[in-house]
Amino acid sequence: MDVSKMLCRLDATLKETMKQIDENAKGTVFVIGEDKKIVGIMTDGDIRRLLIDGHGIEERIEPYVNRNFVYARITDSQEEIRKKFNEAIKILPVLNEENEVINYAEYDQNLHISLVQPQLNGNEYVYLMDAFLSTWISSTGKYVTRFEENFAAYCGMKYGVATSNGTTALHLALTVLGIGKGDEVIVPDLTFAATINAVLYTGATPVIVDIEEDSWCISPQSIEAAITSKTKAIIPVHIYGQPCDMEKICSIAEKHNLYVVEDCAEAHGAEWKGKKVGSFGMISIFSFFGNKVITTGEGGICVTNDKNLETKMRIYRDHGMSKERRYYHEVVGFNYRMTNLQAAIGVAQLERIEQILAWRKELEIQYQNALKNIAGVSLQQDNLPGRKKIAWLVSILVDEKKRDLLMEELKRKGVDMRAFFIPLSEMDIYKEYARSCVISKKVAARGLNLPTSYEMRQNGVERIAEIIRDFLKK
Ligand SMILES: *Cc1c(COP(=O)(O)O)cnc(C)c1O
Repeated sequence: MDVSKMLCRLDATLKETMKQIDENAKGTVFVIGEDKKIVGIMTDGDIRRLLIDGHGIEERIEPYVNRNFVYARITDSQEEIRKKFNEAIKILPVLNEENEVINYAEYDQNLHISLVQPQLNGNEYVYLMDAFLSTWISSTGKYVTRFEENFAAYCGMKYGVATSNGTTALHLALTVLGIGKGDEVIVPDLTFAATINAVLYTGATPVIVDIEEDSWCISPQSIEAAITSKTKAIIPVHIYGQPCDMEKICSIAEKHNLYVVEDCAEAHGAEWKGKKVGSFGMISIFSFFGNKVITTGEGGICVTNDKNLETKMRIYRDHGMSKERRYYHEVVGFNYRMTNLQAAIGVAQLERIEQILAWRKELEIQYQNALKNIAGVSLQQDNLPGRKKIAWLVSILVDEKKRDLLMEELKRKGVDMRAFFIPLSEMDIYKEYARSCVISKKVAARGLNLPTSYEMRQNGVERIAEIIRDFLKK
């Protein structure tokens, strides 16, 4: 990285400094005076402490710069530089005789790469502060409404009902569709447990079916084979950013008079034949947990085009309370609301979703280039007909017998990753609901999710690829 990204002028404001730190993703800037000579250092921790102490974001950093700092000289040997690092010091400026910063040195043994890290460097902080200072910190406030409207519009849908998380969104959707005891709901075997848990909360019986070999999404053929007179709904999950075959699924649903509730928790912005996921279901849900494509910390939303369902969802979400008569409860409702603070972050995240998706895509392409020639690695399909997937985590398949050992190796080298979800059919509490799931077992045993962390260093992808290449060669 260009050393200029590490520099910040002494007359900068806290806000400008924070921006610079975000841009270089190193947690630190070197502060220079007008004469280009170094004055001191500031870290993201310093700025956080100043803000907590009540300093304004437009204040200048000058009085607060840490002027007693560790540095290296260009004449220092690698060994001398290495000795300057410790628990607290992971990066330092390299100075010439004039005390100008001409490079930086970074501690990068066992450099840690985390699986995901949210990007919060747009208006997140500003809106969050605005919501906070307005004192509307609970679930009423302008940001909730704005987030609901903006997110629904983003999906091409009329209404959005924000919730406390993706799981409550799913439960809310199934509830207002009248799904309950005696009903069957079809779910894929390869998904996060929240998908099936929400079905179980309603008292309905989940029916677990297999996935497609190429997309890893729920198999339309298996859906059709699992339909009975009790089936009420299908929950297609756009797994790991890959959209399901919504044409086949919707036509099956239509033929058998079933509801489609899309679980889009991992696929914000993905498209089936030019139409965004979330716009096919009677109701569709998204999650904004901290590791998803965009985040509100914890959060979720239901989107729909049906005014009646929207009204019902608001009533159930808000304790089942009548809109006309306060404290009169029409139904046994829930408290599933999103707070204005969460929504403030969400509005800012949504402003930049295209940038975030583009950045993720770029990272995925880097991975594709670095991994494509490694024997024994197959990448998630990225060009299936009709589907425009988005990059959430980067997913690969390796030899089943080597998968867990490779995971250990990556972990030893400081790379966070995770195995694919354990198929629902392989867990004691769910297996009674499963139909034959051959493909999902095969895929899940081979699958690995690699990091798409914002902090990933320039050479992060290359480093990970090298570890995988060396390991698989053995
Ligand atoms: C994350 C996730 C959910 C649940 O979302 P939360 O906000 O964590 O409750 C549901 N389904 C899938 C497929 C997910 O990945």
